[in-house]
Amino acid sequence: MQKSLTSTLVFQLDIHEGSQQLLDSGQLEARRVVNEIFRLDDQGYDWQTIKDKVVERSNHVKNTTQRLFDKATDALERYYDEDEYGHPRQNHDESFPIRMNHGEGYQLSVDEASESVSFRVTALKRNFVRGTLKSSQHQIERLKTALTDDDWRVGTAEVVKKQDRYELHINVTHETAEVTAKENAKTFIGVDVNEDCVGLAAVTESGVEESVVIEYPEVKKTRHEYFTVRKRMQSAGQTTLETEVQNEEQRFVHNQLHQVSRNIVEWTQQFEDPVIVFEDLKDMRDDINYGTRMNRRLHSLPFAQLQNFVSYKAAWSGIPSEKIDPEYTSQECVDCGYTTRSNRQGKRFQCVHCGFQDHADRKAALLISAKGLEKLNRNVPALNSPPIVRVRRHGNGLSEPADHDPVSSVRGYQTDGETGGVSG
Ligand SMILES: [Zn+2]
Repeated sequence: MQKSLTSTLVFQLDIHEGSQQLLDSGQLEARRVVNEIFRLDDQGYDWQTIKDKVVERSNHVKNTTQRLFDKATDALERYYDEDEYGHPRQNHDESFPIRMNHGEGYQLSVDEASESVSFRVTALKRNFVRGTLKSSQHQIERLKTALTDDDWRVGTAEVVKKQDRYELHINVTHETAEVTAKENAKTFIGVDVNEDCVGLAAVTESGVEESVVIEYPEVKKTRHEYFTVRKRMQSAGQTTLETEVQNEEQRFVHNQLHQVSRNIVEWTQQFEDPVIVFEDLKDMRDDINYGTRMNRRLHSLPFAQLQNFVSYKAAWSGIPSEKIDPEYTSQECVDCGYTTRSNRQGKRFQCVHCGFQDHADRKAALLISAKGLEKLNRNVPALNSPPIVRVRRHGNGLSEPADHDPVSSVRGYQTDGETGGVSG
């Protein structure tokens, strides 16, 4: 299935420099340009002449005027092709969107220190509005990926007025993705993301195919270290140094997550018609211990980023993704269905009702796969006798088939991460 991966991300503008009034003027000028195009077309000028004239007279930069020309002539083309709408004449709506090219009419940059994205919009020639974009963490992460990942392109954007507030609607496009329809998927890959490892389980309607836990304790450890260092600098008032350390930390985490997400997609590709199933991050509070602010900071980044990296890399390989409700994925027993917080003790899952035992993160991945099957109306097989858990340390590429008893494999997991066994 051919699937275009262009989507429009919506952001609120937090204006630091320039003003809303400047954007108002930009919108009025956009309306004037479009109205002029309609009028000149009415008078019988050819389009090249119209384009030259409006570009010359416009108080918008050349590229922005050209994008406005494209939009106006699209409307005119529809009129001439279909002959059913009236000729688009004067547009009286005051809030005509300013349409711009990235890098010309508007610019975006990732501010590593504050984890935010800054914008610069040219509201009129030589008149800039600057500030930061506001939206959900998820949208911000998607935009950052589009800005930094070679597979993605940031396209045109429009300044749109909603009530009294301005928004920036940004088109992002995956260059060459051809993604399989998830309705045709056969193997459901549940992905359970944790701050030190990711659990993966491949489940079909006939049973559990395979599972693995990929550890990346360095990410957790290094983030802890950076956090401590930054906190010390903060209290010493060394803000410049703190920013540097923060940039360094983000580069490290970014690289690690890219590698881990590559591993996940590679593992997924061995299965027939896979679909990757994630927990929907919007409502994960139930499953995570958000005890302290530090906990929250440590958690927030890898979850969203890793999911984004994985789904983008998967899409690049034609693999679709799906999201499920994460409620109780870490607490529910896959054997009897009994759900309680006390079923989970660290990396160990043991059902207090029926005694079923498993590696907690592998079990969560199984349940995520099952919820994926359910969501796409498939039969969910029995999950109570899954294959041996494989634990793989990210970075050395080795995997170790765990002991046949899942519980002792959990114990082994906690104490013995460094040793590699059979290559896999
Ligand atoms: Zn149970």
